Amino acid sequence: MSDPPHESLAERAVRLAVDNVAAGGKPFACIVVDAGTGEVLAEATNQVTQRGDPTAHGEIEAIRQVAARGRSDLAGCEVYVTAYPCPMCLGALYYAQPEKVFFAATRQQEGEYYEDGTRYMSLGTFYDEYAKPTGERSLPTHQAVVADAAAPFRAYAQAHPNSRPPSAR
Ligand SMILES: [Zn+2]
Repeated sequence: MSDPPHESLAERAVRLAVDNVAAGGKPFACIVVDAGTGEVLAEATNQVTQRGDPTAHGEIEAIRQVAARGRSDLAGCEVYVTAYPCPMCLGALYYAQPEKVFFAATRQQEGEYYEDGTRYMSLGTFYDEYAKPTGERSLPTHQAVVADAAAPFRAYAQAHPNSRPPSAR
């Protein structure tokens, strides 16, 4: 309540999400704003139902809108989302590196009405999946046998000598 500009953008994200439900979509939206200028760089709603793309969450859509404007990360930006990000979007936000993320609903508030699980996870188990050892996760994942699995990374290191991890220099 002490920070009206943030609250108004969060309120807008909630309204966009409600509008998306009315349009046949899922109840999520994301707004990205330049923290310095206040310019809204992206307004996106979850497009999973509309487009049949399971990765078309609001956060992913917004990050792509910002990229289309020529900004390759969210440095200097603040992100407003309808609910605390799912693990996929949380990962995307770690890559995109906004200054701050503001969420309207907690996962608990969302979970009273909405379940976004697949055959591999539910909202209640998804975060814990990442902490499990690879072989214990519900998504079957196996290392494939190849002749030289390190080849792409060796090629990259040769092409970009200054990019190698400090431990490998
Ligand atoms: Zn998500």
